[in-house]
Amino acid sequence: MANPMVDDVREIKEDNPFESMMAHFDRAAQLLDLDPDLYAVMRVPNRELKVYIPVRMDSGRIEVFEGYRVQHNSARGPGKGGIRYAPDVTLDEVRALAAWMTWKCAVVNVPFGGAKGGVVCDPIQMSIGELERLTRRYAAELIDIIGPEKDVPAPDMNTNEQTMAWIMDTYSMHARHTVTAVVTGKPVELGGSAGRREATGRGLLFVINEAIKRFKMIPPQTRVVVQGSGNVGGIAARLLHEAGYKVVAISDVHGGIYNPNGIDIYEALKHLRETRSFEEFPGVDTVTNQELLELECDVLVPAATENQITSHNVDSIRCKVLAEGANGPTTAAADEVFHDKGVFVIPDIVANAGGVTVSYFEWVQDRMGYFWKEDVVNERLQDIMVASFNDVCKYADSHAVDTRTAAYMLAIDRVAYDTRMRGIYA
Ligand code: GLU
Repeated sequence: MANPMVDDVREIKEDNPFESMMAHFDRAAQLLDLDPDLYAVMRVPNRELKVYIPVRMDSGRIEVFEGYRVQHNSARGPGKGGIRYAPDVTLDEVRALAAWMTWKCAVVNVPFGGAKGGVVCDPIQMSIGELERLTRRYAAELIDIIGPEKDVPAPDMNTNEQTMAWIMDTYSMHARHTVTAVVTGKPVELGGSAGRREATGRGLLFVINEAIKRFKMIPPQTRVVVQGSGNVGGIAARLLHEAGYKVVAISDVHGGIYNPNGIDIYEALKHLRETRSFEEFPGVDTVTNQELLELECDVLVPAATENQITSHNVDSIRCKVLAEGANGPTTAAADEVFHDKGVFVIPDIVANAGGVTVSYFEWVQDRMGYFWKEDVVNERLQDIMVASFNDVCKYADSHAVDTRTAAYMLAIDRVAYDTRMRGIYA
């Protein structure tokens, strides 16, 4: 008889994004034969800050929220990474996300380390005023450890351009002068970059364009399923649709819609904006998020959150290409199955790196005080995404490893080289 305790243990581990990340890190480090001293330094974050954030709620009462900022690695430059607001965000999750930022920045070769922040709150239940006070006090708590040369936050789940504007303003008020480069993903009018909002989705389009060439497919014959319709999934779906791909399914948190002949994504997203749901969108079948992942397609884009593809559903997934829009949508256990099935995986640290790449452009533009046109941003983004995709594929071929392992190896090797050259201050 199965021992339920054993199953429980495996379940907890599989769902812990930090453990998934560490499993990939350890495998890559082993294959690289990473020096034990470097291994010891690189497997832990540089710094973790936990803060308690008092906020005066609209009721007049004070509520105290818990927040984190993890700076994983700064060997290659300032920490970089988003801030997420969610009721279930944990320190382990933020730790994993911070590490992914280190590997992501290294794989696309932008001069940043990795960091991530999170605040345990339910932004849907909070008023705009409460969100502003929460953000400003959280920013004030981080003031000593963030900055253009130290750690540069950006939006992530449930944060946006407005959140970044508040952080920029709070930081600037303390500095007594305007410091635009302290965050990226700001409004364009306030030192943001043209193309930043669409950058993660556009980066996905660029790598998917490259991946389908390997299967001799062209966009009109390529059926795409997108999980998620936020800043990553919604924009990727729209750009893929515009590029001629047949987007056959899309979802939001409540569920999805499916039409094997393709969905008019403009209309579907308009319907979502107007009614806050895909329900009652005409001419489609409704599917749950689980069913959506299991639809037969050519390209599957999980662009929602972590742990969507696990050992429980990976056998039912039927795609040729997996393009990970979210961070950590596939657990380490499920990843092995993809490899055995021959699915071509574009791992998150490559597939969704368009966002941080244009964040890098934003930081550069802020520091120059000179702003580029959107077509310049998009062209430079394309160069970096295509080159990084090809670097990873070449590395995978020459080292006979899967693409995820190749991406980690490439990234870890770059961080290890820089750490070795700088020397460990021990
Ligand atoms: N939150 C995004 C990510 O996970 C963007 C981070 C950034 O631009 O710094 O990649």
